[in-house]
Amino acid sequence: MKILIVEDEEGLREALVRSLKDEGYQAEGAQDGQEGLDLACSGTYDLVILDIMLPKLDGYEVLKRIREKKIVIPVILLTARSELEDKVRGMDGGADDYLTKPFEMEELFARIRMVMRRQEGWGMDSRIRAGDLVLDPGSHEISKAREARRVKLGAKEYELCEYFCCNMGQVLSREQITQKVWGFDSEAEYNNVDVYVSFLRKKIQFVGADVRIRSVRSVGYVLEETKK
Ligand code: CA
Repeated sequence: MKILIVEDEEGLREALVRSLKDEGYQAEGAQDGQEGLDLACSGTYDLVILDIMLPKLDGYEVLKRIREKKIVIPVILLTARSELEDKVRGMDGGADDYLTKPFEMEELFARIRMVMRRQEGWGMDSRIRAGDLVLDPGSHEISKAREARRVKLGAKEYELCEYFCCNMGQVLSREQITQKVWGFDSEAEYNNVDVYVSFLRKKIQFVGADVRIRSVRSVGYVLEETKK
């Protein structure tokens, strides 16, 4: 699988290329919007990681032109921190996902896997698994692997659950969760996280999966497998 990274900051671009290669992908960089657009349309890449602030053409314009050409390559946008407008504009413009800077490489890898899974999902099993917890992106239901009992999640519960599942074992701060699930960062929303985590815990308990959302004091939460 070949990934194109369109990023004008040389240090970041090279770090991304290197990390993606270490992860087993083929990766190449483009340093401005025009070069990125030309390469993205060349048909040799399977996914584009696209920065927004770029010389020549910005990321929105690159994305727009890719979609105008009816090219269906998945695009993950890199946005500046907590700019809700960026996110909305990017997703409306046909981005498949976005990542706010700064980010951990592990998170980028998770997003790549998720976007590719979605892409390949037609007629295939697109369910997300974390331990023996199974999350169905189609029906928004969770279940325990190989068990019939299932329960439907609300829209926010689903997003929260997906975020936890894709980052199993990693501590997620309330801030990260708020930004991911509610799309912005505000003190008032932090209580929401606690409330929705408690909803989700009850539902996970109900289906009997051997995972739990553990509180990490004064930080946030982590989804982990319960020791049997
Ligand atoms: Ca930039």
